[in-house]
Amino acid sequence: MNNIKYSYDYLFLSPHLDDVVLSCGGLIWQLTNSGAKVLVVTVAAGDPDYTKLSPLAEKAHKLWGLKSGAMAHRRQEDVKACAQLGADFKHLPIQDCVYRRDTRSGRELYTTQSDIFGLPCAEDLDLGQALPSMLLSLPVALKTFAPAGIGGHVDHEFTRLIARAVFGSKLMYYEDFPYCEDDASARFIVEREPDLESESIPLTQTALMRKIRSIEAYASQVKPIFRSLDLMRSRVRQHAQEVGGERYWKLGNQKEQNEGKNFMLRF
Ligand SMILES: [Zn+2]
Repeated sequence: MNNIKYSYDYLFLSPHLDDVVLSCGGLIWQLTNSGAKVLVVTVAAGDPDYTKLSPLAEKAHKLWGLKSGAMAHRRQEDVKACAQLGADFKHLPIQDCVYRRDTRSGRELYTTQSDIFGLPCAEDLDLGQALPSMLLSLPVALKTFAPAGIGGHVDHEFTRLIARAVFGSKLMYYEDFPYCEDDASARFIVEREPDLESESIPLTQTALMRKIRSIEAYASQVKPIFRSLDLMRSRVRQHAQEVGGERYWKLGNQKEQNEGKNFMLRF
């Protein structure tokens, strides 16, 4: 049972039903294990009209091994993953970009795989007008995290841009895994927003194990992303080793306000 509370210590915004757990699962477990209240909010968790799927949406379903009711299945995977981490969940009714259509013409907004990497189109930002009020009506939290947008997936950009407009400079960013496996990811963030500074949060062995176990709950996504459970486990471990746990970003001037070390997170 998922009883959403009035307030949380930490709120994590996930573009899709997997991104936050893939990127922040270790930190989330460490936070909940130390008594903090965490809410994972997935933006693109809504149902499409399954009678009007575009070829791109059909292709995505095939990749996920899912048919009609795909999103209900994916939401259940997320429920299991969040339970593994001791976090509450909330699913917003925005559709994944493979389902989104122009409200006036009914035309598909993204028709090819390459279309879904880049900034959201103007019609999409029109559709996104509903998101700021959804974010503003979420439970209050001491700290809110959004994706840094590494990889440039349109849903990640959509979430990042609107979250930044709503939460402003207090927002913290996580590196989108597995897009951030590329060494250039940190450079990408600094070049785009030079005022952001990073901090790596070390993970205990138990936290890493919990993270891996929670990612396993997204069975429809593990195979298309990693090809196998074993490859997922080794890539998650490898990345944690490379960045010293999980890496997060925040505006540099807030570092001074918070007096140095552990500027983003206090446990
Ligand atoms: Zn994603």
